[in-house]
Formats: sequence, C-alpha cells, structure tokens
Amino acid sequence: MICLGCSCLCDDLDFKNEDGKITVSNACLKGFKRIDSFNKNRLIPSINNEKKSIDDVINKTIEILNNSKKSAIFGLESSVIEAQNESIKLGEKIGSIIDNFSSVHGGYLIEKFLDGSVKTCALDDVRDNCDLSIYWGCDPMSTHPRLMSKFSYYPRGKNRQRGWEEDRNTISIDARKSLTANITKKFIKLRPGSDFELFEAFKDVLSGKLPKIGDKRLLMDVGTSIKKAKYGVVFAGDGLDYSRERVNDFIDLINDIGFKLQPVMDSIGFSKLLFDRFGFINSINLEDKSHSEDNSIFNVLKSDDIENILIVESDIASYLPYKIAKRLKDINSIYIGPHNNLTAYLSKITIPSSIAGVESGGNVCRMDLKEEKAEKVIDSDFLPSYDILNKIREGL
Ligand code: SF4
Repeated sequence: MICLGCSCLCDDLDFKNEDGKITVSNACLKGFKRIDSFNKNRLIPSINNEKKSIDDVINKTIEILNNSKKSAIFGLESSVIEAQNESIKLGEKIGSIIDNFSSVHGGYLIEKFLDGSVKTCALDDVRDNCDLSIYWGCDPMSTHPRLMSKFSYYPRGKNRQRGWEEDRNTISIDARKSLTANITKKFIKLRPGSDFELFEAFKDVLSGKLPKIGDKRLLMDVGTSIKKAKYGVVFAGDGLDYSRERVNDFIDLINDIGFKLQPVMDSIGFSKLLFDRFGFINSINLEDKSHSEDNSIFNVLKSDDIENILIVESDIASYLPYKIAKRLKDINSIYIGPHNNLTAYLSKITIPSSIAGVESGGNVCRMDLKEEKAEKVIDSDFLPSYDILNKIREGL
C-alpha cells in the first residue's frame, strides 16, 4: 500500500483488514493516523450547518457557481492527479481563479525547482548516493517523518553501504532546534530572516576566507564538509519564507557548491501540473490563463469582489490569519474533503469525500516528481473528490 500522508509517498506499507480490524505496518504515526481516520471525525453534507443529502449539496454548489461572476478554486495539494485535473476542467468552464498552498508557503522555491534553475534529483538516487544532506528551514522529522529513514540519512544505499554512521553527514540550519536538528550531526541556529547573512558567510568560507558572522569554527567545519561532499542535497522548507526575496542568492549558493535542491513540501505535484499547463505554479486566472499575486488565496479573501470559493482537501483556514480566514463565512464557501476541520467549520457548504489512497485510488506525485498509483484498501460509500468535481462540472 502507498501512504498519501505526505509527499514521501511511502510505498512499503502492509495493510490488513480482518473483519473490520485494521493493522498497518511500516507507516509512521502520521501515516497511520490518516489511514485509521476512516471512521473518525467524518464530514457530513451540509448547507449552513444543516444536514442535507449529497445530491442537495452538489446541486446547491452548481446553483451557486451558475450564478457567480467571480469564483475561485483552492487546495488540491494533497489530492490525487485525477482530482487536480478535474478541478482545472471545472475552473476553465466557469473561468475561475485557481490557486494552491504554494502561494502561502514555499512557492518561490518550487518555481526554481521546476523551472530548471537548479539541479534536482530522485529520492532513490539520494538513498543510493547522498553523503551530505543539509536541512535548511525544514523539519522533515515532524512534517515528512520517514524522509530521513527511507532516503536521506539512515538507509544503506547502493554506494552508501556503511550508512549514517560512517557514510553520511547531516547538517540542520534552522531558527530553532527542531526534531530534525536533534538528530543531525551539526546544527546552525539562525535568526529568522538572516539566511542571506549565512549565504554570504558560506561564500567566504568556500573561497578560503574567515566568515564575518556566527560561530566561525562551526562554519569553517561545515564549509569543509561541503567541499568534501561527493553527492550533496539541500532539503529546503518554509523556514526560508522570511528570506524569500533572496531566493536567487540561495539558488546561486546551491549551484556554486554543486548540490541538488529538494523542497520538502506537499504542494509540488499540483504546482507542477499547473506549471506544465499554464507556465505558472499558482494564482492563475483560468479565464485568460494569466497569473497575478492578486489571485492568491490571501488576496482573494481580502478582496470584496469574490463571490464564492471552492476549497478541495486543504485545511487552509488553519494557516491564514483569522481575520482573513473568517471571510469564508461572508462568501459562498464550499469545502470538499473527508474530515471536519477549521475550513469546513467556516464554510457554508460541506461536501464529504472519500479518503484518497484509503477509500479510493488514483495517481499521485512524490516530492521528487515521481508518479505512483495508489489503490483503495477499504470499501466506502463516500465519493472520491474527482467524482464530486466531475458531477459539479457536468451539472453546470
Ligand atoms: S512519511 Fe509520509 S508517506 Fe511515509 S508513512 Fe509517514 S506520512 Fe505516510
């Protein structure tokens, strides 16, 4: 079984269902909880908090979309590719805005990852070859719990038979001592937003000069490890958000040291789909295929002229300032997803869907862009989100 709990898409899970008693082996706690959530906290079809039938909520959504001049579709970063494609078709039919989580966090890195500005790599190559992994502004032990055990640090690889003890070096660079920083061999603590000073310090060290800031001995030591590395990978996360204006300097540094980049984020797959189709990863107006920051969820919810928003399998309200998130209550907001969450709570219409990779199958994209096929393992009456999106589109 493949786990869709995060963009590691671990494919080695063993799943058993014996008379309704479920056992899962090899999953991390996050993955297990997602699979085990099939009978917990499920969303019910509702309009203004009143329980309705699934047909009623789909018909009401069709009515709202038919009568709207300006609509937006958001989310799908953890959906299967079939649902992502359906959302694009729906958005094209109604001429809506389409956006995803990369406009909130990390889009500036994903863009560089996709547009060829920097070398990238397959996670299987990381497992076989990587001898130095740097975790910059990310904490995979919390967000992508098996990334280090399956690929970057702990496994024996084809050319890394002596494993983490002797063959692999690890460095964490972060504003706090995260779970990941607790297990890496070195840790550099940064002030949020001071990444650029560290880029400069590394440049000094790599050209044989003394760094002007920080713990000089530690930086010299890290510089030596970087110079010695044969296959280095920088795993980067949204801790770099504070330095996003300097993303080109970050990419230059990775290129200068000859490393590869892997963003540790879940919105890479849908961003790639949009990038391949429209040349932009998010904030797209599907009416004229243009891109503007005004089309990001943040700005859409701030503007007065948006009439409705359809959010698919993304609890975006948990990440937005409450003042912005509560705008969902003022407009016609429709949430499609398997579980109750803050976004569903604030939405006027809720449409329950199956849990992808558990109650329905589909194709999915790993963080390194490898595609996998997930199968359903539990029967359920819930419709997959792509069927719901298709029914809405057909009904318009
Ligand atoms: S690391 Fe991610 S994909 Fe792997 S088991 Fe955990 S949640 Fe699932």
